[in-house]
Amino acid sequence: MVKPALRSRSLARKYRRTPGGRTVVHYERRKPSQAKCMICHKPLGGVPRLRPVKLRKLPRSSKRPERPYGGVICPRCLRKLLKATIRGG
Ligand SMILES: [Zn+2]
Repeated sequence: MVKPALRSRSLARKYRRTPGGRTVVHYERRKPSQAKCMICHKPLGGVPRLRPVKLRKLPRSSKRPERPYGGVICPRCLRKLLKATIRGG
Protein backbone atom coordinates (compact mmCIF):
# COMPACT_ATOMS: atom_id res chain seq x y z
CA MET A 1 0.00 0.00 0.00
CA VAL A 2 1.17 3.52 -0.77
CA LYS A 3 1.93 6.06 1.91
CA PRO A 4 -1.08 7.65 3.61
CA ALA A 5 -0.64 11.03 1.90
CA LEU A 6 -1.09 9.39 -1.52
CA ARG A 7 -4.32 7.62 -0.54
CA SER A 8 -6.09 10.98 -0.62
CA ARG A 9 -8.59 11.37 -3.45
CA SER A 10 -7.62 15.02 -3.81
CA LEU A 11 -4.68 13.79 -5.90
CA ALA A 12 -5.40 12.67 -9.46
CA ARG A 13 -4.20 9.18 -10.42
CA LYS A 14 -2.46 9.00 -13.77
CA TYR A 15 -1.71 5.53 -15.13
CA ARG A 16 1.60 5.71 -16.96
CA ARG A 17 3.31 3.04 -19.03
CA THR A 18 7.03 2.79 -18.29
CA PRO A 19 9.62 2.07 -21.00
CA GLY A 20 9.87 -1.46 -19.55
CA GLY A 21 6.17 -2.06 -20.19
CA ARG A 22 4.94 -1.88 -16.58
CA THR A 23 1.97 0.30 -15.71
CA VAL A 24 2.61 2.54 -12.73
CA VAL A 25 0.45 5.09 -10.96
CA HIS A 26 1.63 8.69 -10.86
CA TYR A 27 -0.07 10.90 -8.29
CA GLU A 28 -0.57 14.47 -9.50
CA ARG A 29 -2.38 17.55 -8.27
CA ARG A 30 -5.76 17.96 -9.96
CA LYS A 31 -6.45 20.58 -12.60
CA PRO A 32 -7.93 23.85 -11.33
CA SER A 33 -11.54 24.61 -12.23
CA GLN A 34 -12.41 26.29 -15.52
CA ALA A 35 -12.16 30.11 -15.54
CA LYS A 36 -15.64 31.70 -15.50
CA CYS A 37 -17.03 35.01 -16.75
CA MET A 38 -17.40 37.39 -13.79
CA ILE A 39 -20.81 38.57 -15.04
CA CYS A 40 -22.66 35.52 -16.41
CA HIS A 41 -20.49 32.78 -14.79
CA LYS A 42 -20.22 30.82 -18.03
CA PRO A 43 -16.88 29.08 -18.78
CA LEU A 44 -14.38 31.31 -20.59
CA GLY A 45 -12.63 30.19 -23.75
CA GLY A 46 -8.93 30.64 -24.34
CA VAL A 47 -7.93 30.32 -20.67
CA PRO A 48 -5.88 27.16 -20.03
CA ARG A 49 -6.75 24.88 -17.07
CA LEU A 50 -3.26 24.57 -15.64
CA ARG A 51 -1.57 24.87 -12.26
CA PRO A 52 0.43 28.10 -11.69
CA VAL A 53 3.74 26.24 -12.13
CA LYS A 54 2.81 25.15 -15.68
CA LEU A 55 1.10 28.46 -16.41
CA ARG A 56 4.39 30.23 -15.76
CA LYS A 57 5.99 28.39 -18.69
CA LEU A 58 3.38 29.64 -21.18
CA PRO A 59 3.71 32.88 -23.14
CA ARG A 60 1.43 35.64 -21.87
CA SER A 61 -0.57 35.64 -25.11
CA SER A 62 -1.65 32.01 -24.64
CA LYS A 63 -2.95 32.51 -21.08
CA ARG A 64 -5.96 34.68 -21.95
CA PRO A 65 -7.62 36.29 -25.00
CA GLU A 66 -5.86 39.47 -26.03
CA ARG A 67 -8.77 41.88 -25.86
CA PRO A 68 -9.92 44.29 -23.12
CA TYR A 69 -11.10 42.23 -20.12
CA GLY A 70 -9.78 39.06 -21.81
CA GLY A 71 -9.81 36.16 -19.33
CA VAL A 72 -12.22 38.05 -17.01
CA ILE A 73 -15.40 38.78 -19.00
CA CYS A 74 -16.79 36.67 -21.87
CA PRO A 75 -17.09 38.31 -25.33
CA ARG A 76 -20.93 38.42 -25.17
CA CYS A 77 -20.97 40.26 -21.82
CA LEU A 78 -18.14 42.57 -22.92
CA ARG A 79 -20.08 43.58 -26.03
CA LYS A 80 -23.13 44.45 -23.92
CA LEU A 81 -21.00 46.28 -21.35
CA LEU A 82 -19.19 48.40 -23.94
CA LYS A 83 -22.41 49.32 -25.74
CA ALA A 84 -23.94 50.42 -22.45
CA THR A 85 -20.83 52.45 -21.59
CA ILE A 86 -20.71 54.22 -24.97
CA ARG A 87 -24.36 55.21 -24.67
CA GLY A 88 -23.44 56.90 -21.39
CA GLY A 89 -25.21 54.34 -19.21
ZN1 LIG B 1 -20.40 36.55 -19.56
